[in-house]
Amino acid sequence: MGINKNSNKQTIIKLSKEFNSFYLYDEKYIITCANELKNNFKNVHFLYSIKANPNPMVLDSVLKQGFGVDAASVKEVMLASNKGLASKLIQYSAPGKTIQDIEITLNHSIIIADSLSEIKLINKIAQNQSIKANIGIRINPDFSFDSITGSSSKFGIDVDQLFSALSWIKQLNNINIIGFHIHLQSQELNVERLENYYENIFNLALSLQHEIKHPLQFINMGSGLGIPYASEDKPLDITRLGKKVSNLMESFSSQLSQSQIYIETGRYLVGSSGTYITKVLDKKISCGKNYAILHNTLNGFMRLSLSQLVNQYNTSNNPKGTEPLFTSANAFSFTPFTSETEMEKITLVGNLCTSADIIAKDIILPKLKPGDLITIPNAGCYAASLSPIQFSSQTPPPEVFLTSDGREILTKRNIIYDI
Ligand SMILES: *Cc1c(COP(=O)(O)O)cnc(C)c1O
Repeated sequence: MGINKNSNKQTIIKLSKEFNSFYLYDEKYIITCANELKNNFKNVHFLYSIKANPNPMVLDSVLKQGFGVDAASVKEVMLASNKGLASKLIQYSAPGKTIQDIEITLNHSIIIADSLSEIKLINKIAQNQSIKANIGIRINPDFSFDSITGSSSKFGIDVDQLFSALSWIKQLNNINIIGFHIHLQSQELNVERLENYYENIFNLALSLQHEIKHPLQFINMGSGLGIPYASEDKPLDITRLGKKVSNLMESFSSQLSQSQIYIETGRYLVGSSGTYITKVLDKKISCGKNYAILHNTLNGFMRLSLSQLVNQYNTSNNPKGTEPLFTSANAFSFTPFTSETEMEKITLVGNLCTSADIIAKDIILPKLKPGDLITIPNAGCYAASLSPIQFSSQTPPPEVFLTSDGREILTKRNIIYDI
């Protein structure tokens, strides 16, 4: 991407004098990725999936690039709304919304109904508030990335069930269905699979529009945009994918002339902007095996230890990803800051009182010593936001945001108990 990652080395060394582990988010990467998406997908509007990284500086930066948001909870809706984002650019999509969730967000977002009963519930709450709510519906389509048939899902409404329910849905006076949302999977690097997926969505949108008998205002195609993690991963061909979407928009332009196309992404936009830094606290040898004990691993960046657990329990060589918890066996790399040239076999573990706090087994690294730093890339998404910071009352790693003009802004996560 043309940005030299080592450019932050001095900043990292400086911050490590104060913190034993921390996240560094570099805004330059966010801007680069945002521009890449905007330049390749003309006339598509992007929604940022806040759950990937709700850090306030990250969110500000993303909003400055003109993104809307995909919110997964009331708090995420309100985070974006309080920053002044228009309600039509906040799509609230999650299963199992409570009455309160709907009451609070109805005026601040487009709620994406996730079930038939939720459609009724939204209608009732809108009636109580004497409004007609513009809503979307999340669909469980009759196709998947792999095949031309769908599969059972906890998300959305099966498309055939929706078609048979439309006669009563259309009688509801306090909702107006203005669009559809589909999201089947994350972290896809194969451009052909995404091309087929988008084509299937356009065809489905056409039949949905035909069934509801009024023009769709939006089609939200969800995410899927993957980033390289393991060294063998090849970047997604975003240029080719952008062309495919342009072609689809052109060929469907007369039938879907009023529909805004949305694509959601968390990781593509912010994943590569983040680095996790952890310090070697101690070293030991047990039964001939070398251990380096690091600060805040399972509780600072959980995906690393989770990957070890998956590998431990899985018998297949290539266990399937379960985003955002597990990507692939060797998704993360470990780069120590050291001038040491002698190598050793080492197991990297954390300082929690559980043997599950292990992030790499028997890897070869330059000989480490207490005080050395290890950096881990792709820590901008599903990292700080996905880690069990309450366990064993440790202090969560602070997050430092490096603005594109070189300022460092520190955020500390809430510490659970004020003692
Ligand atoms: C989490 C999520 C996303 C974001 O996925 P990424 O892999 O971060 O792009 C998009 N849409 C929905 C509905 C999600 O739940």
